[in-house]
Amino acid sequence: MKFVEDARWFCPPARQDDPNAPVPPGCVTLVGAGPGDPELLTLRAVKALRGARLVLYDHLVSKEVLRYVAEDADLIYVGKESSHHTLPQEAIIDLMVRLARSGRSLVRLKGGDGFIFGRGGEEAQALAQAGIAFDVVPGITAAQGAGAYAGIPLTHRDHAATLVFATGHLRGESDVALDWELLARPRQTVVIYMGIGTLPIICAELQRHGLPGDTPAALVEQATLPTQRCITGTLQELPALAQQHRVRPPALIVIGGVVALQPQLMQGMRSMAHWMD
Ligand code: SAH
Repeated sequence: MKFVEDARWFCPPARQDDPNAPVPPGCVTLVGAGPGDPELLTLRAVKALRGARLVLYDHLVSKEVLRYVAEDADLIYVGKESSHHTLPQEAIIDLMVRLARSGRSLVRLKGGDGFIFGRGGEEAQALAQAGIAFDVVPGITAAQGAGAYAGIPLTHRDHAATLVFATGHLRGESDVALDWELLARPRQTVVIYMGIGTLPIICAELQRHGLPGDTPAALVEQATLPTQRCITGTLQELPALAQQHRVRPPALIVIGGVVALQPQLMQGMRSMAHWMD
């Protein structure tokens, strides 16, 4: 694999036998890489990675997943972290469109599922607008990986009939972009992505809107990787627990009665056993 250092100017045309022939545009495959464990890649994702000549990948794609990319493929890191974007979203879209127009086909690889808080929707829109053909390969989203590997069933007939995925990436300091009333409803599981930085606000708002402080809650860091940590407690304890355990992104907040099942499930679970094989 060749890692391309400066992605901004990277735009070599596709190789052609006849340099005067018009260049047919390449196509883009938007691939969900799953939450980290490469064994959670779909067969379609592996097929796309093995066949790719060029891969644009994000910060959240694990290095184990990149091993499935062919030896001679070009890799471009367009990392995305909440605070310091390596390439702004517009630049990523612009690069993808330019590469495709120059005849290159590429894989756009994103953590989890590209259409779940991955801005894959915006990229697909831009490609459609530019008239570039694309394909979408779904991935296992972080919430599913965390639930399965940390022993938290996201729904359960005794505890949760509704499951909500929300983003904790609030736009302003006291921004009320989230529908707190909906999130504070009983008998549901709420999974919050990108919420570690705003955890104290989230926990306070949920309690203010009626969710009891003793509602079971968990933080799942680096879900599905051998470095996974799952810290459980109650909604009111969560901010202090996050500090005490120095929880860092990527991590999910899981809130709801299902979290109370975690100790019992973990007794019987061997979720990390395959990492040792
Ligand atoms: N498209 C991704 C989500 C991208 S948003 C998906 O479907 O999973 C980025 C957020 O996802 C992180 O801030 C974190 O909250 C969550 N996340 C992604 N990978 C994770 C992991 N392995 N463990 C815990 N949280 C993860």
